[in-house]
Amino acid sequence: MSGNKRILVGAGTAPLSEGVLASTQKVIHEALERLGYGESYFELLKEPLRLLTVRIPVRMDDGQVKVFTGYRAQHTDAVGPTKGGIRFHPSVTAEEVSALSLWMTLKCGIFDLPYGGGKGGIICDPRTMSLGEVERLARGYVRAISQIVGPNKDIPAPDVYTNAQIMAWMLDEYSRIREYDSPGFITGKPLVIGGSQGRDKATSLGVAIALRETAAQQGMALKGLKVCIQGFGNVGSHLAEILDQWGAIVVGISDVHGGIYDEKGLDVQYLLDRRDSFGSVTNLFSKRLTTAEFLALPCDVLVPAALENQITMDNVDSVQAKLVIEAANGPTSLEASDKLHERGVLVLPDVLANAGGVTVSYFEWVQNNQGYYWTEEEVNSRLETKMVDSVQKVLGLAKSRGVTPRLAAYMVGVQKYAEASRLRGWV
Ligand code: GLU
Repeated sequence: MSGNKRILVGAGTAPLSEGVLASTQKVIHEALERLGYGESYFELLKEPLRLLTVRIPVRMDDGQVKVFTGYRAQHTDAVGPTKGGIRFHPSVTAEEVSALSLWMTLKCGIFDLPYGGGKGGIICDPRTMSLGEVERLARGYVRAISQIVGPNKDIPAPDVYTNAQIMAWMLDEYSRIREYDSPGFITGKPLVIGGSQGRDKATSLGVAIALRETAAQQGMALKGLKVCIQGFGNVGSHLAEILDQWGAIVVGISDVHGGIYDEKGLDVQYLLDRRDSFGSVTNLFSKRLTTAEFLALPCDVLVPAALENQITMDNVDSVQAKLVIEAANGPTSLEASDKLHERGVLVLPDVLANAGGVTVSYFEWVQNNQGYYWTEEEVNSRLETKMVDSVQKVLGLAKSRGVTPRLAAYMVGVQKYAEASRLRGWV
């Protein structure tokens, strides 16, 4: 492969399963019901307020023009601008982008960020495109959606197969259209053009803090906890590093090639030094576990940090972990998650566990608006406060109302939007 390809380390690689919007709506419906909001609230919040479809012509390196399809969904602007990443993936659909925008609302609600959810996506496979093609596509997408985005309207960010370089091109294109520099238009930028310290590791640090707090609530200390991490991309690899530093024992990791396991603990630094640009490392090992074998490994904590729909009714009975921390979006099916709950396994839901990313995106936007930049210590300590508060709020509600942590997270997440919609006279 030529040097200008393979620029992207993905945050995840798989499509969301069919019906993801329906299962998200089911939990939102129940959350609103338990909070005492009637059917009209569900009618308003069950889908994005706006879903734009765009067609983007791109001149490819061979001289031909290829037309790509993209979307931007804005779930609700009841409390402020919408916020959420843009994914580049062959399996992007309008339904997936819509469901993901609802999840972003829940994350912003739980963490009390002054946004509603948004999400964008382009149907493409950046792994087969040159840098120039990806740049032209990114700029074309910004031109196509420029009417509906902006620092006080809708603020994009990275997601699956998009990164800081792509954010830089998008910012540049947007600033040219507006004819002034507008760093608050997008987050997840490189540091020198208005990015935030700590943004690259924010999701992983957030997951680590959530894991530590959840374990503590269950009477378990992080030190010595045996953890299996599924996925060694952006999120999984930084997470392994942080947990290793904090004294947890990373006993299993997996990537696209399969899983590796050592009950005494893996040498995380050795593995980090050897992974390739797509986060793969287990291909160096001759004996590798399948996904089913990996998910069934003996451990205290299982962290799915890569793919959607990994723990399902087919394999849920083999899960041995006492805690499942959802670092990926949607790794556990709703039925499997309920089954684990019945068995006494605590599943910390994605909208809580992985929201460190959007939280530090919010910090980045605040810094851009102020024009005053924080140190990494300041960013991390504010993230720590937000994570600890959010975990306590959700697990506290789950306990007091006798509901699953997922339903509690949805209840905490959706309430602000129901209330704001009522106050605005929308319901
Ligand atoms: N794409 C990330 C998410 O799903 C981050 C979004 C953001 O930073 O706005 O949470």
